[in-house]
Amino acid sequence: MHCPFCRHTDSRVVDSRTTDDGTAIRRRRQCSECGRRFTTLETTTISVIKRSGVTEPFDRQKIVNGVRKACQGRPVSEDDLAMLAQEVEETIRALGAAEIEAHEVGLAILAPLRRLDVVAYLRFASVYQAFDGLGDFEEAIDVLRQQQAEQSGQQTIPAAVEPAGAGAKKRSGRRTRPRSLDGVSQPRLL
Ligand SMILES: [Zn+2]
Repeated sequence: MHCPFCRHTDSRVVDSRTTDDGTAIRRRRQCSECGRRFTTLETTTISVIKRSGVTEPFDRQKIVNGVRKACQGRPVSEDDLAMLAQEVEETIRALGAAEIEAHEVGLAILAPLRRLDVVAYLRFASVYQAFDGLGDFEEAIDVLRQQQAEQSGQQTIPAAVEPAGAGAKKRSGRRTRPRSLDGVSQPRLL
């Protein structure tokens, strides 16, 4: 690695410690040419497997760019986008997998985006989930309304309306999905 000050190719490690969350190692280095110090961060890369089968490294900036399009004209700041991307990365790292499919990245975006801005969420979901017509939007909006009602503390939704989830049907069976997004509240329209 080049020294960021003088581009010299040799440096020595003067300090090395694991970050608080244990996901990376921070090394303090000193350039053997100019003597200045800089920090490197060593972390595992996560490969994203695209639908075409091509893999590329997970990149937070790609999340920001993708979501920014859906947020045009909405009261969403660059800070909001950066925090959303960070949350997505944390969700994905928590899966503990070295490789992840692109659609799982999309899934991890939906929940935080829904909290951030419902209009942007609908735009993103409509592209990501290939909405095909008014019916898909209506369905998604119904789910949003239901969730908002639940959040505002109304308990008027009869239990019968709740979708019979796989959990209810197969309670006896063991969960077989290898990498579930546990801890992420997934929208029911999935
Ligand atoms: Zn240097």
